Amino acid sequence: MSTQNSQVRVRFAPSPTGNLHIGGLRSALFNWLFARHFKGVFLLRIEDTDQDRSTQEYTQAILDGFSWTGITFDEPILIQSTRKKVHQQLAQELVASGKAYKCYCTPQDLDDRLGSNAQGSDGEYRLYDRHCLHRHEAGITEDSSKPYVIRFKVPDHDTRELNMGLHFNDIIRDEVTFIREQFDDFIILRSDGLPMYNFAVVADDAYMSITHIIRGEDHLVNTPKQIWLYRACGWSVPLFGHVPLILGPTGQKLSKRDAATSVVDYKKNGFLPEALCNYLVRLGWSHGDQEIFSREEMIEHFSLKAIGKKGSMFDMTKLLWLNSVYIKRLTPAQIIERIFADMNVNLSQRYSTWSIDVLQKGIALFIDRVHTLKDFIEELDTLYQQPQLDQHTVEQLMTASGLTQQQLVAFLNDFVTYSGEHTKESYMQHVKQTCNTHVTTLKAVAHLLRYALVGKTESIGIGDCIVMIGWNESCNRLKKFIGKNF
Ligand code: GLU
Repeated sequence: MSTQNSQVRVRFAPSPTGNLHIGGLRSALFNWLFARHFKGVFLLRIEDTDQDRSTQEYTQAILDGFSWTGITFDEPILIQSTRKKVHQQLAQELVASGKAYKCYCTPQDLDDRLGSNAQGSDGEYRLYDRHCLHRHEAGITEDSSKPYVIRFKVPDHDTRELNMGLHFNDIIRDEVTFIREQFDDFIILRSDGLPMYNFAVVADDAYMSITHIIRGEDHLVNTPKQIWLYRACGWSVPLFGHVPLILGPTGQKLSKRDAATSVVDYKKNGFLPEALCNYLVRLGWSHGDQEIFSREEMIEHFSLKAIGKKGSMFDMTKLLWLNSVYIKRLTPAQIIERIFADMNVNLSQRYSTWSIDVLQKGIALFIDRVHTLKDFIEELDTLYQQPQLDQHTVEQLMTASGLTQQQLVAFLNDFVTYSGEHTKESYMQHVKQTCNTHVTTLKAVAHLLRYALVGKTESIGIGDCIVMIGWNESCNRLKKFIGKNF
């Protein structure tokens, strides 16, 4: 693969040390949209060089996350660890050309010379003192059987590389500047032969001919190191765009304490991938006031320049609203399928006494009321299962209705004698007639009736509840309620 390419080539490069994170999915979406907008190529690379923390399960979870969102990659997935030998060879070439050097200092040597804190009390990182570089320059040869790491020799102040590395134009953040004193000769190859992140990422991005690196802002500080490495290897430097982080309510990076951060949790909790993706793309990127985008619209309008420079606050209320918008676009049959596919809940089995028609009718009754697929299950459960009644709530509802216990019992005893048609309309007609007979109003009895039927005061209409529950079961529930000692 050549590193010169006019076609846009971007990638997402997760480390398989956890599930796909929503921040990662958002970066991937930005890359994917950028590639699609410019008819370029979007690639996936699994960065599994940290072998202690990377697992096959997490790789699979990341792939599953993408297949759920419908985001596809244009070339075979690159597994970083398969390129270990290339990384090792490249590191040795940098040593041979004097751009990197072998460092034999042990952790103990570093502690003795530089102090034992990885991070000093003033917040400064312990910087390597070039001990081995000086020895090498002084012609001192080391015992070659001793373990060593390879350190990159960071260009010094007066070199051309300096400006290129410490000062660069970020597509999203514009000018970014670092100071040289912040960096030391960082390790590119560990003593066990495994490459370090900054080195492997550059070697692989160049190998994959990546033209634009769009990733989270937490990698901004790595960019000077990567630019130096590109230049040392004689490769053209790609463009960088660092996306601001997703923030929690306190303004800090979103954490698990603020909201679920794994994509799989959204899937399990009944979010639709189209809603989550729409939400994440809009979180930080905008196109006028438009909130809802089809994939085609996103691709058409997407631009890195329209990504804000500030972090965006995660807003669950908005995500829930978007999810409800996308739910309304599905048919009951599709909703039943999605609940099975994403939440592993087979509604036909769960509500085995309901026909598929009744089940679909139930879904349709709640479609305007729910925010997640999970809400459907909770709502349908209340219709299907016997309600759990709470004495205190019954007493409160009784007081609110203005009915005496005797009046209510008489009302309900009369109500259950119905023998007319089994439609929502005729049930409602019957409720109203019974109200008239007992000189009360629908308003007075509605909460009590609903509570007796489904254990909740707010739900779909009473006529619909009775249709879904069935007349016989509704009578059973009402009689049980009458039998309660309130
Ligand atoms: N493996 C890195 C991560 O998961 C990717 C860094 C990059 O995109 O350059 O954070």
